[in-house]
Amino acid sequence: MSDLYTRFIANLVFPLQERVKKHDTVRVRRQMEESQWWSAERIAALQLERLKAFLTDIGANVPYYRELFASTGFDPRAVKSTADLQALPFLTKAVIKDNTDALRADDAKGLARFNTGGSSGVPLIFFIGTERVTHDVAAKWRATRWWDVDIGDPEVVVWGSPIELGTQDRMRLIRDKLMRTELLPAFEMSDERVEAFIARIRDMRPKMVFGYPSAISHIAGYAEKKGLRLDDLGVKVVFVTSERLYDHQREVISRVFACPVANGYGGRDAGFIAHACPSGSMHITAEDIVVEIIDGAGNVLPHGQSGEIVVTHLATRDYPFVRYRTGDVGVLSDHACPCGRGLPVLSEIQGRSTDFVIAADGTVMHGLALIYVLRDIPGVASFKIVQETTLLTTVFVEPGKLFKAEDVTRIEDGLKRRLGDAVTIDVKLVDVVPAEASGKFRYVISRVAA
Ligand SMILES: [Zn+2]
Repeated sequence: MSDLYTRFIANLVFPLQERVKKHDTVRVRRQMEESQWWSAERIAALQLERLKAFLTDIGANVPYYRELFASTGFDPRAVKSTADLQALPFLTKAVIKDNTDALRADDAKGLARFNTGGSSGVPLIFFIGTERVTHDVAAKWRATRWWDVDIGDPEVVVWGSPIELGTQDRMRLIRDKLMRTELLPAFEMSDERVEAFIARIRDMRPKMVFGYPSAISHIAGYAEKKGLRLDDLGVKVVFVTSERLYDHQREVISRVFACPVANGYGGRDAGFIAHACPSGSMHITAEDIVVEIIDGAGNVLPHGQSGEIVVTHLATRDYPFVRYRTGDVGVLSDHACPCGRGLPVLSEIQGRSTDFVIAADGTVMHGLALIYVLRDIPGVASFKIVQETTLLTTVFVEPGKLFKAEDVTRIEDGLKRRLGDAVTIDVKLVDVVPAEASGKFRYVISRVAA
């Protein structure tokens, strides 16, 4: 049962805000709430129809694809199955970097610029148009409502980066207040901070908690250890995203908050790819997103086999994401979910991982706190941070064209500010940043046990 305030926010304030932003989010969400109950076949037919229209559109209006289709003889109007996508090249971060402007539609609407490290640690600049924002917000909104909560319900968000927090303007703060969302910065997890978080959560009695699984499970574990209760607040669901969710994290969060944990998978770059339903399946946003699983050589793998997740986002005509390589590893399932939704299921997502690091004084902080130091430096093409001990951290840096000698000092100073002055920061300039033995790239690795 949503209370009056929630209904007011969900039905009036949020739609109004979206309308002001020219986002037809409510309409799209309603359509998606209908199509989620369609049969798998009917959803696949809708997806194919949308794929064909999308490819035809970008073939006419996006310079990069216009030239590609012309030079390869690809005819989007002849597309008969999603397998026809295999005639097209993958979109990688390198391709986006080399074609930043040619990927814009001639008639693109409301493009907003984004800058992300993605999961590889390679900075990526790309654009998101109005249609795509509408669809990603609608997909997230739909998945939120699967859990008997709604936008406007009191929510604690365990999130934030120094940068995001620094640029938060007044409007954003007012919006958060109105939406009853409170942000707890997840970067510095000292005991005092965690205790303050727990006190704030107790005070606020949120209906939902949203954030990194590593951060929320850390808070839950601390509460349990100290005998601080979080199970009597009426929290209905804990949404986690951005990292791999480990079983032990799910268990401690669920036990301490006395509610289910719902995993979401996606990103600014790849879109809102999949979200858990109450029956435990990760449902793909199939109306908008075609998922392919590929092997190391780029061949598409059948259902049940593990490989890299590649997405084509059908609401990205202003700045297309076609066969975008996420760098994440997953498995597509054939199983029909008992919840009755016909949306296809991603049975496993592996290989997303952002570890905590531990400062010299014992402060536990999110690995992203270090990542933002590196991401801020334009001369850094790629990097990997390895915390060897609490007193030694190695940083592998692949210098880009804009790299300056003083950037090394900048990295040392930035990391020391977070980890402690006594810590040795060993910056190693390398031609290529080494990947893990698994082949998966991780940008922060801590060898110090939390
Ligand atoms: Zn389901």
